[in-house]
Amino acid sequence: MKQIGITGGIGSGKTTVCQIFEMYGIPVYYADIEAKLLMRADPMLKNKIEELVGEEAYYPDGELNTQYIGKKIFTNKALLDSMNRIVHPAVHIHAEQWAQKMNKACQPLYILREAALLVENGSYKALDALIVVTCPDELRINRVIKRDKLSREEVIKRINNQMPEIEKVKVADFVIINDERHALIPQIWRIHQTLTTTNI
Ligand code: ATP
Repeated sequence: MKQIGITGGIGSGKTTVCQIFEMYGIPVYYADIEAKLLMRADPMLKNKIEELVGEEAYYPDGELNTQYIGKKIFTNKALLDSMNRIVHPAVHIHAEQWAQKMNKACQPLYILREAALLVENGSYKALDALIVVTCPDELRINRVIKRDKLSREEVIKRINNQMPEIEKVKVADFVIINDERHALIPQIWRIHQTLTTTNI
């Protein structure tokens, strides 16, 4: 079973693209969702996170205060890097366990691992191929403002804290242009065909 990474900048449409792959029966590991679950459930991670950003990272009932954490880390590159260094190894182990389970349960030809960070930390190198979803900045900004009810300035800060799209494209095996001009489904279908019929 092949493990394929899928990444892209904030608002590029990673999740939307993955949902279409799921319609073709491909299991997807959503690293950012799983990371939030682990951050709540794993006491060691919880301690480290509180040390890094403060006890306000959790509500009194133990729920993750994602708004507080987001405001702190997405506008401070050093803090964002430290958070990723804490959370990433735990998510990587969890993703490997999930992939083994999927392999046993349904033997898919490949699975997808969706994550905002795959190129930045080099983890894409351990996977069989990498898909990068791209979208012009202006469209990404508008999408995220609409989806997350953030200000334009806040979204731009978050984009500026991420690796430029062009750097991700350089190491991609497949690029999906999600600019609302290029049809999305044929691009995804072609990649699915390649992944299911060739040795990539
Ligand atoms: P993030 O990194 O912030 O989680 P993402 O890359 O996973 O973002 P999505 O959540 O898939 O991006 O998309 C961002 C927003 O843009 C969503 O509201 C989604 O519905 C919308 N969107 C994505 N692709 C398209 C498209 N082709 N046409 C219209 N809307 C789109």
